[in-house]
Parts: sequence; structure tokens; C-alpha cells
Amino acid sequence: MIYFYNTLTKRKQVFKSIKDKQVGLYTCGPTVYSTAHIGNLRTYIFGDILKRVLLYQGYKVKHVMNITDVGHLTSDADTGEDKVEKAAKKSKKSAFEIAEFYTKSFFTDCKKLNILAPDIIAKATDHIKEDIELIKSLEKNNFTYQTSDGIYFDTSKLKDYGKLTGMNFKKLNKTLKAGARIELSPEKKNITDFSLWKFSPKNSKRQMEWESPWGRGFPGWHIECSVINLKYLGKAFKGKRFLPKKAQTIDIHTGGTDLIPIHHTNEIAQVEAITNKRFVNFWLHGEFLILKDARMGKSESNAILIKNIEESGFSPLSFRYLVLNSHYRTSLEFSQKALENAQESLNNIHNFILDCLIDNKKIQKKKTSTFSLNEIKKEFEKSINDDLNTPRALAAFWKLIKDYYQIRNNPKKVYEIALSFDKVLGLGLDKIKLVIPPKKIKELAKKREQLRKMRKWAEADKIRKIIEKSGFLLEDTKKGTIIKPKL
Ligand SMILES: [Zn+2]
Repeated sequence: MIYFYNTLTKRKQVFKSIKDKQVGLYTCGPTVYSTAHIGNLRTYIFGDILKRVLLYQGYKVKHVMNITDVGHLTSDADTGEDKVEKAAKKSKKSAFEIAEFYTKSFFTDCKKLNILAPDIIAKATDHIKEDIELIKSLEKNNFTYQTSDGIYFDTSKLKDYGKLTGMNFKKLNKTLKAGARIELSPEKKNITDFSLWKFSPKNSKRQMEWESPWGRGFPGWHIECSVINLKYLGKAFKGKRFLPKKAQTIDIHTGGTDLIPIHHTNEIAQVEAITNKRFVNFWLHGEFLILKDARMGKSESNAILIKNIEESGFSPLSFRYLVLNSHYRTSLEFSQKALENAQESLNNIHNFILDCLIDNKKIQKKKTSTFSLNEIKKEFEKSINDDLNTPRALAAFWKLIKDYYQIRNNPKKVYEIALSFDKVLGLGLDKIKLVIPPKKIKELAKKREQLRKMRKWAEADKIRKIIEKSGFLLEDTKKGTIIKPKL
């Protein structure tokens, strides 16, 4: 049994998919106006772990992600500029070029972090017609009203608006009013109301704009996610035609905790107002990454990118390890020291895999195991099934490593178990191969040994450096020097 903490019910629940052994999974994708920072990427690593746990447990997963290339404004209050258009103006590129550039950069970073690619990647700009269909449906059912700048959703008309926040309509309105982030524009009826369609400004032309029954403009940010969910997982569209009665509930929807009060709350409202059916069964949310008492944000110009991590000599997977080492529902404090420790742990794991491979070549006879591999496996699986408890799963992995080094038997089996764990952890252990050093390297290593015996340290060190440059490392042990491929 797998347990997930469901934001909707505020408790851990046994996960049950709607269809047997099949899961529809939706992840809110990036707004592609700048490079995703490691705080954003932490959320995607969490989503990746979730997907990998489901796959590990034998589910067939259909994973859908949107790309927000239009409609995400600089303010949550439906005012301000479109983030992508703003970035385009600044860099003198087209909005479409900006979106394409940052979409590519996002998936390049995801690949470096070993995040599995979604099965369907859907751009907001490819779904404008479907957006209009859904808005028309909301209009027909009296959930909308028009202001001078767009079409809005009247949140007071939906009985359980805001349920994801755990607050009722009145309390949510009061809370949002108290927060400085949202201002009530004079034409909005309730502070929680949000735009479905925004009109293009009268005196300037947008790069991304479309005709609609209400006038030229662009969709609101929330509508794209509702539509893409309904289309690819909820099966409520036939081509571009909207068939709300056919809508099916979706298994899991994920994102960062910052999306709960507005974006996800509004996604639910738009769908449930029309379908009268539960939109999503399980809502899972990842916590923030923190830099010395401050949440990392682009506006605070303290964003750290994967590029920066690489430039400092760390591997992107060391960041993944760091993320795995804290639970997704607790905030993670990022520091150089924490990353250094993560890199060291990752190197040790890589070395352990190499040792298993080397031992497997050397040890011909299998000794019976004196430590219980099954128990370690059980502990690992119990941890991942308990609301994705990756720190505990890592602890089980370290127990495997520690026990192995004490006895060093059955390397083949231990290697297989380690790799099966890595199907969830995603630390790239399957890529570690035992490379036999070429003759030249072996000869150099021998020469170095001789020099060391003659206490010619400086010359020996020069040779070590040459060997390292060729992609190998030397490990001096009591039994002699071992040549290992550099990771
Ligand atoms: Zn979304």
C-alpha cells in the first residue's frame, strides 16, 4: 500500500487509482520567461520521485505537464504584465522565441537532474480554442462577468470555493485581503475572483493575442491547466470540442505549495463548476527551498541555477541527492556546505557501485549472505510508500552499503538491489560502467608505484595527474593500487 499526504483532505491516505494499476498524473509546468532556479527544480524532483515510486510499484503512469507560455502575469491579482511578453521586450526577442528558449533550457536542466520526461508536454498557446470553449461553458452556467479588462470568474457562485486551502469563502477572502500581495481592483466583485480571459490593452498590441467571442485578448493563467488536464487526462475534449459530461476525475495533481491558494484553487473552481464532479482525487504539494531565511525567488535576485552548481564543480545529481535527503513536505535549506556533503555522499555511492562491479569480477564463489538483503529491501519500500519518505529510503540504502563493506559478499545481488533502489532515487547508478584501464594506464600506474617505493613523491604525483587526465583515478589500498574510472 502507498500512502500520500493529500492537501485536499489534509491527511495521509492510502492511494487508490481510479483505474486498476493505471495513474493519470499532472504536474504544473514552468512559466517560460527565464531559467528555472534550483527552488523551482526541487518541486520537479519531488514530482519525479512520485512518478518513479508509482512506476516502481507497477503502475502505468500517464504523466502530463503544461508549459505556461502565455497568460502568467507579474501579479497574482490579474494586473501587471505578462511575464513572457515582458521578458521579450527586455531582450528584444519575440515572445515565442523567449518561450522556446526557456522551454529548452528547462528540459535540459531536468535531464541533468535525471527527471523523467513527461509523456505529454502541452503548451498553453496550443490550447486557446479549448480555453475559449471552457470559458463559454462557464458563461452559459452564469459563473462569469465582464469588466473593462476581461472576463472574470465569480467565485461567490461556487459552493465550496477554496476547499483546497481548508478555508471557506469568507475566510479565504478575508485572508487574501489581509495579505499585501493581492489588491482588489474596483471592478472585481470578490477578491478571490480571477480572470478567465483578458482583453489586449487598447493602445498597444500584444505579440500573443487571439480573437474570442468577448474580444481580442489572451487566456488567464489558471484556465490552461484546467483545459490541459481535462483534455489529456479527463477525456472531456473531442478534438477541440468540449464535452463536460464526459469529464473523468484525475488521479494526482502536483505542484509547489505556493500554488495552493490561487492557481490550484482556481483550477478546481473552473472544472468543478462545469462538471459537478471531483476534479482531482489526490493533490500533492512540495515545500520550498530556502536560502538563509529567504525563499528563493527571481525577484529577490538570489536565484541559483544548475549552471551555477556545475560552474562550482558540483554535479547536478549532487543537488538531486540533497533534495532526496529531506522530505518533500519540509522546507530545505540550501547551502554550499550542504551541497558539498551531498556530493561526497554521491561519490561514495558511485564508488560502492564500482566496488560491487570490481568484486563481482574477482569473487568467483558466492558466499551466503550474512546480512538480510530482504530486510533492507523491505525497509526501503516501506519508506518510499510512506508519503515518499526519501530520507529514510536513503538510510536503507546506506545500510546496504555499510553491510556490504563489512562482509563483501554476493556483489552481484547487492548490485542488483542497489540498481533497483535507483529506479526510484534516480542517481544515475545504471550509467556506472567498469572500464578496463588501457595498457598504457596500467604501465603508468606501475611506474608510479615504483617511484613511490623510491620515495620520489613529486614524480609519482606527476604521473597520477597524467592518469587522472586520461579519465582514471588511483586508489591506494593495503593490497596495492586500484585503478578506477573517473566518475
Ligand atoms: Zn498549473
